[in-house]
Amino acid sequence: MNEVKKPKKPMIYYYIIVVLALLLFNAFVTPWIMERQVEEVDYGTFISMTEKKQISRVDIQDQDNTILFTDKDENVYKTAKVEDPDLTDRLYGAGVSFYGEEIQQTSPILTAFLTWILPLLIFIGIGQYMSRKLMEKAGGKNSMAFGMGKSNAKIYVKSSEGIKFSDVAGEDEAKENLAEIVDYLHNPGKYKEIGASMPKGILLVGPPGTGKTMLAKAVAGEADVPFFSMSGSEFVEMFVGMGASKVRDLFQQAKEKAPCIVFIDEIDAIGKKRDGRIGGNDEREQTLNQLLTEMDGFTGNNGVIILAATNRPESLDPALLRPGRFDRRVPVELPDLKGREDILKVHAKKIKVDVNVDFNKIARMASGASGAELANIVNEAALRAVRDGRKYATQADLEESIEVVIAGYQKKNAILTDREKLVVAYHEIGHALVAAKQTDSAPVQKITIVPRTSGALGYTMQVDEGNHYLMSKEELENKIATYTGGRAAEEIVFGSITTGASNDIEQATKLARAMITQYGMSKDFDMVAMETQTNQYLGGDASLTCSAQTQAEIDQKVVELVRRQHEKAAQILLDNREKLDELSQHLYQKETITGGEFMKILNS
Ligand code: ADP
Ligand code: ZN
Repeated sequence: MNEVKKPKKPMIYYYIIVVLALLLFNAFVTPWIMERQVEEVDYGTFISMTEKKQISRVDIQDQDNTILFTDKDENVYKTAKVEDPDLTDRLYGAGVSFYGEEIQQTSPILTAFLTWILPLLIFIGIGQYMSRKLMEKAGGKNSMAFGMGKSNAKIYVKSSEGIKFSDVAGEDEAKENLAEIVDYLHNPGKYKEIGASMPKGILLVGPPGTGKTMLAKAVAGEADVPFFSMSGSEFVEMFVGMGASKVRDLFQQAKEKAPCIVFIDEIDAIGKKRDGRIGGNDEREQTLNQLLTEMDGFTGNNGVIILAATNRPESLDPALLRPGRFDRRVPVELPDLKGREDILKVHAKKIKVDVNVDFNKIARMASGASGAELANIVNEAALRAVRDGRKYATQADLEESIEVVIAGYQKKNAILTDREKLVVAYHEIGHALVAAKQTDSAPVQKITIVPRTSGALGYTMQVDEGNHYLMSKEELENKIATYTGGRAAEEIVFGSITTGASNDIEQATKLARAMITQYGMSKDFDMVAMETQTNQYLGGDASLTCSAQTQAEIDQKVVELVRRQHEKAAQILLDNREKLDELSQHLYQKETITGGEFMKILNS
């Protein structure tokens, strides 16, 4: 779709420019025009005209050392003032009135016109022109002075290249849900007949980069209606009260363009729970109230559909979610394996790729990636192909770019000492070996000890075969054991430990904690939630909901759980000490080995 943006600069800039232009005009142009009306003559001419009695008035200007005089037809002349003691007598003799009123260099009407009326006319004209221009673009009629409080909504005009549902891969449930809206926009009569009204507002909920904006655009594209898009954070401005007027303006425009779609991204920026604290964010509350008023203000069937996106649904004000406002919620989740594969394929169409790329494998490797990350992976692969001077992207490009997106670029000249490199090799093989020796662990895909820009000195990539929706207690424990495997290997082989395990420690702790406080996997707490999840789409922080005493108990249990798995991992490595050495040496030599190589050595 063509995006038509209004100019970013506020009107005030244009006004400043106009005022400056006027000042310059008055300073230089006006005097110049007026100078032209005065004819300069020499003193002799003045005298001879005086003697011929051709002069009617004289004005001697001492400061400027000039004499202004007029002839009988009121033409103005000017001459230099010369030291002439007889001047007064001569003028008197010629019957000139020289004590009369000051001579205007131009006629008073012309002067007034040039200095006041003309600039005013220009000023008004430009102002009118610009506000008409702005209004045409905004499609609205009620602009406020200086364009403040305008909604700045981006309008996507209908065009042939509009985003369609087919451009959004995966997300079948969301698409199904939204298809009804499209049908309604096409054919509102069908719904009115039966008395059904469409939900006014639909909330798209999900983690960042899962295609919420895309879906909203696709609804507009499918229905072939205008699309207004605005981000929640844009409503909250520096000037108090502007947010509310922006909301008003947005809805005004939308109603004029109905049927249409209004999309409010990041609605949590304005829709946060009003907490009633004194000195809370008045501006935001006003904006939210205005939004609620607007939503109540229009009837269900007027063809304006509001879509909003958020990744913090739990923080939204309940007033926003009650029936009649955002009463329908469409989850837009991270894509599953099939979804990831489809998204990769959709984006791969935009670049040239090798015909025998295994998208399923890439999708499996990119477990947990969002649509935006997958799009990024495909683009990285294309960039890599260009860098290497190839005409199309290959499987290797795609695989490498997954690592780039996950772990950052390879650090070309990170200098590890031999010993450090060896420690990292043992550490990674420790992870891989513990994973491989436990049942129900995802197979190892790749192990590398090439440092990355993210700071990782190496990593072990495990890839699940298919989708995984449920995790058993054993699987979770095995995962913790795998996390501790790296450190365990260092302890066994070198008898000392390094900082290299910090990320493993964090992950293991998080998992162990969740098992105890959220999944009810410890006997003592039975099925009692000790933590509630907040921000489930943004990394999933948790807040404790138990007494301080229980908290201390939880901490103890977490430590016990991790310790048990750590010991288990160490035992596995001790039992396979020869393999640990062999594999680590191999990795140390080659720096990167595949899962296949790893299994071959392990099983030989
Ligand atoms: P959100 O609004 O959920 O944060 P966006 O809609 O802005 O995410 O998605 C960002 C980008 O990610 C899109 O421009 C698109 O390239 C890609 N993307 C995300 N989800 C999908 C999907 N399901 N199919 C195809 N591309 C997707
Ligand atoms: Zn590690």
